[in-house]
Amino acid sequence: MVDAVVVGAGPNGLAAAVTLARAGLTVEVVERNDTIGGGARTAELTLPGFHHDVCSAVHPMALQSEFFRLFGLQHRIELRLPEVQYGHPLDHGRAGIAYQDLERTAAELGVDGPAFRSLMGPLAQHADRVADFTTDALLQVPRHPLTVLRFGLRALEQGTAAWNARFRQDVAPAMVSGVAAHSIQHMPSLSTAAAALSLGSYAHARGWPVPIGGSQAIVDALAADLIAHGGTIETGREVRSLGDLTPAKAVLFDTSVPGMLRIAGSQIPSPRRGALRRFRFGNAAAKVDFALSDAVPWANPELRRAGTVHIGGTRQEIAEAEGAVARGQHADRPYVLGAEPTVVDPSRAPAGKHVFWAYAHVPAGSDVDPTEAVTRQIERFAPGFRDTVLASSSRTAVQMGEYNPNYVGGDIAAGAASFWQLVKRPVLSSDPWRMGGGMYLSSEAAAPGPGVHGMAGWHAARSALRHTFGLSGDVDLSPEE
Ligand SMILES: Cc1cc2nc3c(=O)[nH]c(=O)nc-3n(C[C@H](O)[C@H](O)[C@H](O)COP(=O)(O)OP(=O)(O)OC[C@H]3O[C@@H](n4cnc5c(N)ncnc54)[C@H](O)[C@@H]3O)c2cc1C
Repeated sequence: MVDAVVVGAGPNGLAAAVTLARAGLTVEVVERNDTIGGGARTAELTLPGFHHDVCSAVHPMALQSEFFRLFGLQHRIELRLPEVQYGHPLDHGRAGIAYQDLERTAAELGVDGPAFRSLMGPLAQHADRVADFTTDALLQVPRHPLTVLRFGLRALEQGTAAWNARFRQDVAPAMVSGVAAHSIQHMPSLSTAAAALSLGSYAHARGWPVPIGGSQAIVDALAADLIAHGGTIETGREVRSLGDLTPAKAVLFDTSVPGMLRIAGSQIPSPRRGALRRFRFGNAAAKVDFALSDAVPWANPELRRAGTVHIGGTRQEIAEAEGAVARGQHADRPYVLGAEPTVVDPSRAPAGKHVFWAYAHVPAGSDVDPTEAVTRQIERFAPGFRDTVLASSSRTAVQMGEYNPNYVGGDIAAGAASFWQLVKRPVLSSDPWRMGGGMYLSSEAAAPGPGVHGMAGWHAARSALRHTFGLSGDVDLSPEE
């Protein structure tokens, strides 16, 4: 008998396990993959010496996360900021450039500079408060109502037909839509606006960093802390039923909602089980990793200093591409999210060489190899890119789901990030992590949703400490001297 078992060793599962172990409980983590990390693994996917982030690559949410701040992530690993937080190429060598410095960003946006500054500035100034309410259960009395109001008014503008009202040219709105598109939804919509405002404001606050050594460094730091506090991790074992687990007082699921129901559905009280069955999946991502002989030859030289690049053209083009995906079609010119970690972390590739990470948005269940569509989109803004490619490795949406069963149909958010599914994730509750019967959902399928922030795991573990173990009070997560 142990106190708690965690099914799945993704960042949320490990965040939950660390919190429970730090509270003095005995904790076992069981992971189906041969390596830990879930959506934060790094591997040589193309050629020897080229280290690619298999899923997540860029970590504004880790920097803003309350859990990772208490955990002291920045004292355990190096998270390095590029000079350009994100860039947005447009045709004819033009580009929107987001610096951490909002004033500099606005100054380069010309006539739309003041509009961009007034959209992002008040949120960037209070980015920790934005993170505070967007990474908790949304059914809460807000601690910072003025920030919530500012955020809400801007979301109503950027999430509706009024979204172009403040802009006169095409660069600033393209930048906002490039960030909004992270949520893989039709746009404008409230959920895409929320992504634009939270992630967009983080760019001008703590920034969009890349971990030295790859995203694996984040989960390795969590695993080391867990083991130092008596926890254990078993890899290479898929959990199919509760009978596969060491008997425990609490079970935390770093799985999808259907994954949890398959394993423990009969233990979850029926009203909640019914609500969970209504949880829906969204559209998908198809991934390509490139090993490059040189840096990406962006037509706009400022983009060569960017960690992240949003590739999709104007706001209108991105909206059309995301609209096609929402209708179940492949866009001719898909929205592509790209990152070049070697801009700040040369350790990822042999001397002078680079890695480029990219995924395109595609309909759920797509089995189309994205390599050519992604290459064409990059080549459009970086002529000569094709000639720098030494090797590439891709995963269709279907293969994403095979790689990690949480990504049903290739939905990398483990559940559509629509407005309602962000409000009730996975159910409408001030404690949406608690399933009843000693079961807790600790994955990105629970509030606050996708991202490497560890917040779902932390919230689920705190709920378990309160409800299953009768322990209240804060758990010290800080690094030991
Ligand atoms: C292509 C891609 C790019 C992304 N880019 C970013 C980014 O740049 N920045 C960012 O912040 N986020 C990004 N994300 C999202 C981020 O990776 C996820 O939100 C995050 O990893 C979710 O963490 P998690 O612990 O909830 O689940 P996961 O990371 O998915 O981990 C779940 C773990 O549980 C295991 N598991 C599932 N079922 C079982 C079972 N039955 N038995 C045993 N083990 C099981 C899985 O194998 C997996 O290891 C990206 C995701 C993808 C796929």
